[in-house]
Amino acid sequence: MSLETGATTAPRTSLSVEEARNRILGAVSPIDGWERVAIRDALGRVLREDVIAPFNVPAHDNSAMDGYALRAEDLPDGIGERSFRVIGSAFAGRSFSGVVGAGQAVRIMTGGVMPAGADSVVMQEKVRTDGEHVLISAGVQHGQNVRRAGEDLSEGSVAISRGKRIGPADLGLVASLGLAELCVARRLRVAFFSTGDELASIGSPAEPGQVYDSNRYTLHGVLTRLGCDLVDMGVIPDRPEAIETAFCSAAASSDVILSSGGVSVGDADFIRTLMDRLGEVNFWKIDIKPGRPMAFGRIGNTWMFGLPGNPVAVMVTYYQFVMDALLKIAGVTPLPERPLIPMTCTTAIRKSAGRQEYLRGHLLREDGAWEVRPAAAQGSGILRSMSEANCFIVLGESQGDVAPGDTVDVQLFDGLV
Ligand code: AMP
Ligand code: MG
Repeated sequence: MSLETGATTAPRTSLSVEEARNRILGAVSPIDGWERVAIRDALGRVLREDVIAPFNVPAHDNSAMDGYALRAEDLPDGIGERSFRVIGSAFAGRSFSGVVGAGQAVRIMTGGVMPAGADSVVMQEKVRTDGEHVLISAGVQHGQNVRRAGEDLSEGSVAISRGKRIGPADLGLVASLGLAELCVARRLRVAFFSTGDELASIGSPAEPGQVYDSNRYTLHGVLTRLGCDLVDMGVIPDRPEAIETAFCSAAASSDVILSSGGVSVGDADFIRTLMDRLGEVNFWKIDIKPGRPMAFGRIGNTWMFGLPGNPVAVMVTYYQFVMDALLKIAGVTPLPERPLIPMTCTTAIRKSAGRQEYLRGHLLREDGAWEVRPAAAQGSGILRSMSEANCFIVLGESQGDVAPGDTVDVQLFDGLV
């Protein structure tokens, strides 16, 4: 692993967001270990083996419409119409066992297996019927309204590729192939703790000057959503021995360690020096707001992220740097693209060039058009605006002030799946 800062052309002492992301993602690699689980338990897990279609999907040629199955060659050409004798029916789940001959038709429903001899379905709206016969006019094409066997998936082809994180559609797809189990990567084990002498834990009263530890709860939330096994190590005081003990026990039990706080260069900020002593580490000043200082490295085989202490900075650095690293370590490939959506901004924003800013934003619909407004409170300790927001407004490094009506990039908090 290379954790060197590397030679840069400009004497820049800090990293861009993209550079920091690339270094982290370039350094980490997937864990070994897998298990077979029942498909319901595979939701959110990372597929370890390609899912191969054991048969064609659909298994048979079948009708895409309610109508009549017949031989295309019998259809009238040019002008005029022809009468067909209805010799049976093919409903979904109940096929017609005979053979369709010249001038014959079989009543068929959507999903019904195409009867032998027939190659076309004529929509029921296009025929006139008198019970035993149907009358069909010229102009109906060969092969029409038939879904071919294997047109969704052919037998032996890859239905879902290894490295995908299983979502609801994948569960349905796997079930449609008749498979009951999937081979998934073992869960990632992530240890996390908060550091700070000022932190009180919920359940005990906060003394004057103390604040309740919230970072462990936001981290609990994001890591649980990601499907990790969690090792919550509580609050660790700002004492080097205590932090060292926490790092060592976390490294022994986990794939990844996340700490929050103590990563600046204040008197009580021991994370960086300890990470350096115990393992390999890079301490980065990243041109990002919030979340400027961050440490990244490893102790043995365990990756470490020393996140800042401010509650919003924890979430921003988690989403922008840690989440995709965890996905990569968990075996996800390719990593998901996270779209930036251009959106009209309703409000002026003061922005100094030279760092990438993540503002909490409200995407809302005004007179039928979507637009974005930054939350009023943008302090990096203010979780309420994080809780109320539904997106980040992402202002690139070189961007300056935003005027009302300007277009800005937005990153959504929620997706459908
Ligand atoms: P630090 O980086 O340790 O100096 O922390 C920066 C700011 O974040 C300080 O105001 C801390 O009180 C606050 N902070 C650090 N850790 C937590 C936490 N776990 N929960 C809430 N606030 C925190
Ligand atoms: Mg602190």
